[in-house]
Order: sequence, then structure tokens, then C-alpha cells
Amino acid sequence: MPKFSVLIIEDEKNIQTFMEKILKRHDYRVICADNGTQGLELIRSQCPDIILLDLGLPDIDGDHVIQEVRTWTSTPIIVISARTAEKEKVASLDLGADDYITKPFGTSELLARIRASLRHSNRLRTDNTFYIRPYRHGEMILDFSKRRLTIHGSEIHLTPIEYKIVAYLAQNSGKVITYASILSNVWGPYADNDNKILRVNMANIRRKIEIDPAQPNYIFTEVGVGYRMAEDEEE
Ligand code: CA
Repeated sequence: MPKFSVLIIEDEKNIQTFMEKILKRHDYRVICADNGTQGLELIRSQCPDIILLDLGLPDIDGDHVIQEVRTWTSTPIIVISARTAEKEKVASLDLGADDYITKPFGTSELLARIRASLRHSNRLRTDNTFYIRPYRHGEMILDFSKRRLTIHGSEIHLTPIEYKIVAYLAQNSGKVITYASILSNVWGPYADNDNKILRVNMANIRRKIEIDPAQPNYIFTEVGVGYRMAEDEEE
């Protein structure tokens, strides 16, 4: 099986090397760029399967790289940033980044983000049918064709809106999904930009699916950004 190729665009050498080592050890083909210009050239010439992008680059801003790349390809982009400001994460996601990871991060987190983004882009490319196999994590199974959510084999009754939220997050499991993206996907493109209705629904969903809604096992809060559903366990 051909290896997946990962392009790392990062000017901090120690972080670049750290990621390169981990990814090579996990059987990815790795290409590195030290700045945005070089990164854009490598995306054009090498067509990597996934891009890891630092936002603070010496020549051009990472957000500019996202905008540029999105004019011609949907290759998944994971933003890697020391910046913790939620606004910047949301801005990158809205420009077309698929996910983000905040420095400092661990090996398993990095690998999980890459897996989730690759799986999602593969699914978009190869799923010609409308069938999506069930989502599975721990004791939870979501069967999209039957619109049925079960935990430990017993059915969880969701309202139609709650189901739409859970299904959308499950289809994107492992990836962060912004409030705006959920609102427009569930309530339509003219949805109110008020997160309150989403928070209320999420509180109700958590009461139904989590043992302790304050310590969720299935749907996690990314403060100021959105939600992330636990990664699908089926490969
Ligand atoms: Ca940097």
C-alpha cells in the first residue's frame, strides 16, 4: 500500500524535526518546508495527502497559505499553532483549514488528528453511495441508515434536531467542528448566529448520552471554537 505523504510547513526546526520523526516512525512519507513560499511550491509539485501548517511563518502568514491552497485543492490542512486565541483558530477553520492542534502537543494527539482528517477526506472522495457505515466509539453505535443511536445496546431517544447535531459530529468524528458550521448544517444557511440554541441542545444531548455530562466521553467542548466527537473506532 502506498504511504500517505505529509507536508510539514514549520519554521521552528526542533518542532519540524519532532513531527518528522514521529510521522516517519508511523509510516508516513514526510516532506518539509521552512516557510510559506516553499510550502506552496511543494504543495503544487508534490501533491501531499495532508498538510501540517504553522500559522506564524517568517515570510507569509499561515492564513494566506490556507486561502491560496483552497483556490485549487481540498487537501486536508491541519493548523499547528502556538497561538491559543480561539478567534484565530476559528478564522483558520473558516478559511478552509480542517482542524488545528495547539503547541505543545503529544504524539498520540498529532497522529489522531492526521488519521481523522485523512479518513474524512478519503470518505468524501470515495463514497459514491449514500451509505455511510455506522459510527462506533466505546459502547456507542450510531447507525445512520436507521437513524438509531444506541449505548450498551439500548436506544437513546433524540429529538430530530439533536439527532442532526450528533450525526453531523459523528460523520466528522475526531475533527473539531465550529459552532457556525454546526448551526448552518443543522438549521440551514440562514441560521441565526447565536450559539445559545446549540448550547441548549448540546446540554440535552449530553444528559442523554454521557454518564457525567461535565466529564464527557463522547462529545468534547473546544472552548470558544466548537465541538469534537470522539474518534470513530472502526477502520
Ligand atoms: Ca512559527
